[in-house]
Parts: sequence; structure tokens; C-alpha cells
Amino acid sequence: MRLTRAFLPTLKEIPAEAQIVSHRLMLRAGLIRQTSAGIYAWLPAGLRVLRKVEQIVREEQDRAGAQEILMPTIQPADLWQRSGRYDDYGKEMLRIRDRHDREMLFGPTNEEMITDIFRGYATSYRDLPRNIYHIQWKFRDEVRPRFGVMRGREFLMKDAYSFDLTKEGAEHTYRQMFVAYLRTFARMGLKAIPMQADTGPIGGNLSHEFIILAETGESEVFLDGKLLEHDPLAEAPDYDGDLTPLVDFWTKYYAATEEKQDLEAWAQVPTERKVTARGIEVGHIFHFGTKYSAPMGLSVAGPDGTQVIPEMGSYGIGVSRLVAALIEANHDENGIKWPDAVAPWKLSIINLKPGDAACDALCEKLYAAFPGDALLDDRPDRAGAKFADADLMGLPWQAIIGPRGAANGKVELKRRMTGEREELSYEDAMAKLSA
Ligand code: ATP
Ligand code: MG
Repeated sequence: MRLTRAFLPTLKEIPAEAQIVSHRLMLRAGLIRQTSAGIYAWLPAGLRVLRKVEQIVREEQDRAGAQEILMPTIQPADLWQRSGRYDDYGKEMLRIRDRHDREMLFGPTNEEMITDIFRGYATSYRDLPRNIYHIQWKFRDEVRPRFGVMRGREFLMKDAYSFDLTKEGAEHTYRQMFVAYLRTFARMGLKAIPMQADTGPIGGNLSHEFIILAETGESEVFLDGKLLEHDPLAEAPDYDGDLTPLVDFWTKYYAATEEKQDLEAWAQVPTERKVTARGIEVGHIFHFGTKYSAPMGLSVAGPDGTQVIPEMGSYGIGVSRLVAALIEANHDENGIKWPDAVAPWKLSIINLKPGDAACDALCEKLYAAFPGDALLDDRPDRAGAKFADADLMGLPWQAIIGPRGAANGKVELKRRMTGEREELSYEDAMAKLSA
């Protein structure tokens, strides 16, 4: 993309309504544009990041054996009347009437709908286990939408739903998702810590929130520093095998949000390993047994012919929230520092003197070498403004090309994450960028 043609509307002014750094940077770098309270349009750079985050989530769900579908955003109210949640959900649910005066709603989550779909097909124990997910926009009429896409009203979520014949089977599926989540966030360069969460009135069941550490997180968290030392990508999980040892590591050390803080257990953590920080919830997994399958009439014939009500779980990831969380975790005073895996483009090429034959030629050559993955700053602006925009946009690499270097075939390469710069020949720069 050439900046002279691109729709990348960066802002010089800091928007007054934006309280946290990710919200400010998303507006300033032209990633999103608010259209109503808590509702955003995604502009080209923001959409590219959103798609990359979504793709990592998808690949790790697929790897763990979940299968993708796509359910609609609009749901009929009667599904929710059957589960008993239509009234309970209260004002967070956006209720809609169609032209025939039928009650509809914009889905805040999909337990009811997936249970109803699955019920139409599953008749026997051979139809289990199954784990089905989709990545779709949700609407929750939050009392206080704030912090940009971090707590929006319309937001993109990956939600998976599992159906198992037995409690043990459901626990295995739960561990598959637990491990898939650790890998998903690690691939984005995030340290996500699983923390025991409330299971609500169903009680006694399994639930973890995945929290990434960031100064601006909504909740305070307490954890054993041991958890920060481990890299989930170091192991290649066998999703069909026993995942208990992997999950055990992540559940044996102390980690809790302030609501779940257990002062006695906290006191047992060695002082030098105690970490208190703030955190952002990026995922939440639940095992809830037959809470939806029972009232919604889902049952299958078991191996001995008697009817069995499947054990269910649901597994959410805040895909759009992750874009903001990634910025909270990766920025400096000048702008965003995208990790390679989620960057909207790989490289900013900064032409310091458009019109200079050597500069133009070298820039074009480099630009052609990264089709679809480079931004070329070919604007006739001051160098300072170009550097500021490149740092704000935060692509992982910057190639700075001025008349003096270009005359000798030299490129200055800057790594945005670390600030390291070096002057290299075109070939060496290419080798470094392609490594
Ligand atoms: P919270 O406590 O933050 O309101 P929740 O418990 O309501 O979250 P879930 O229903 O478990 O969230 O949804 C799954 C994931 O969707 C959450 O872990 C979070 O990452 C994301 N999410 C939830 N609400 C929002 C929102 N209003 N805006 C953006 N992402 C959200
Ligand atoms: Mg909520």
C-alpha cells in the first residue's frame, strides 16, 4: 500500500474521550472509528490486525479438534424462553421486533442456538463428542461501554461449544480448550494466565478466565511468578492423549483475580515469587454440565440404549478485545509496537526524498519484494512527520531510505519492538527481513 493512496487516517490530536492508551492509539493510528457508543467501524489497518488475530484463534481451535460453523447474529426469542434466560439476561440483551411483531434479539452469546442446532442431528452416543465454534459479532448493551473495543457493545467473539457423553469426556474437552488457549495467546506474543473463575449458580464445575497482564487492566491479579517463566509453545500437545500433566502445571501455582483472592493460599507463595499486577480478561472457559442440554431437550441414546443428556461446555475468546489488549501490552510513548504475528503489515518503507531517482528506485525495489505486506511512505512530507507516523503505526520493521544511502545502495533498517537500527546493503536488509 502506498501512503499517497492509502486510507490510513492517522490523527495528530489525542482524542479527549479516550482514557486508556490502546483506545488513544487505535484512534490515532486510524485503526477504528466510533460510530455510536461502544460500536466501531474497523478501518484498513485495524481490520488487518483483527483478521490476523482471528486467524490465529481459528488455527488453534482447529488444531484442538473444534470445527468451525457460522451462526447468525439475530436469534429468535423463543430459544431463550426455553432455556429460561430470556428474562434473566435483562437490559444487556438488545431486543428487536420484526415486521410480524415476532420477538428477536441480537445474540450476546450462542448456547441456546447451538444446543438447538445440535439437537436436530444428534441421536446417539456415536454423535459425541463434538466441539463446534464460530467467530461472530455479539451485542451486549453494556451499562458502561468504555475503553474503545476493550469493552464495546458490539464485539467479535470466538465461542466454542462442546458436547460429551460423560463428565470425564467433558473434562478432557475442557483441557483441550485450556491448552489451545495457552497456545493461542502465546502465538500472539502474550502471556496469558489461567485463573480459576466463578461458575455462577450452577456451582461445583470448572471455569477459568485467561488474563493477560497490563497496567491498565480492569482487575487486580495475584500470581506466582513461576507461571511467567513457562512458554506454552515449548510443548506440542497431543490433543487426543492425556493433557492432565500440561494443565496441572498451570493450575498448581497460585493465580487469582481480586474477587477470588484467597489470602491464606497467597501467604504460601514465596515472597520473591509473588506478583501483583493488573489484568485484562481475554478468554473464559466453562464446563456447565446439562444446564442447557436438559431444558432444551437434547438427549442421545447411550451405548446401552438408555437416553443420556450430553455434558456441555462453552469457551469464549474476545477477538476484538484482543486487538486492544495487544496494544496495551506492546507500545511506547511514540505509538504501537506490533508483534510480528499480528502486525497489519510487516514493513514500513520510508522514502525520505520522493522524486530522487536513487531513493525512488530502491524504495520501489523493496516494495515489490513484499507484495501486500509493506507500506510505502511516498508522501512529499518532512522526514520527522514520516518517522512519527511510522512509529505510531508500529509495523515491526522500518526501512529508511534517504538520498545519501540510496546512492550507495544502502538501507537503514529499524526494528520497532527494540528500537535497534543498522545500515545495511539491500541484500543484507532483504536477508534480515526474510529471516
Ligand atoms: P466481562 O467480565 O469482561 O464482562 P464476560 O464474563 O461477560 O466478560 P464472556 O461472556 O465470558 O465475558 O465472553 C467471552 C469473552 O468475550 C471475554 O473473555 C472477553 O474477552 C470478551 N468480551 C466480553 N464482553 C466484552 C465486551 N463488552 N467487549 C469486548 N469484549 C468482550
Ligand atoms: Mg460481561
